[in-house]
Amino acid sequence: MAKRDRTASRTAFVTLRDLPGTRLMFWVVSECPYCAGQHLHPAGNLRTADPGERLGEQPAPCDPSRTYELSLAPRPKKKSGKNERRRARREGKVRDWDDEV
Ligand SMILES: [Zn+2]
Repeated sequence: MAKRDRTASRTAFVTLRDLPGTRLMFWVVSECPYCAGQHLHPAGNLRTADPGERLGEQPAPCDPSRTYELSLAPRPKKKSGKNERRRARREGKVRDWDDEV
């Protein structure tokens, strides 16, 4: 394994989304470890790219001097997750891309 500087990089959990009408995929950081915001990382083309190649250490968009490690999100254990999303969508805060194809 490559050496890692534990102080420099934190883990950011991502989920894979695609953009309706395109073949572009994005890794979505739902909660940035630095700013708690959402960030998108292009993961390439559905047909040609292997999105897994884009995981790992990436610069944080909110702070170019820092990096975080993109990692697949574990399955949610808290029951709040789904309801939170549903409520957020109802309030128009979250656009669910999958619904708009
Ligand atoms: Zn951030």
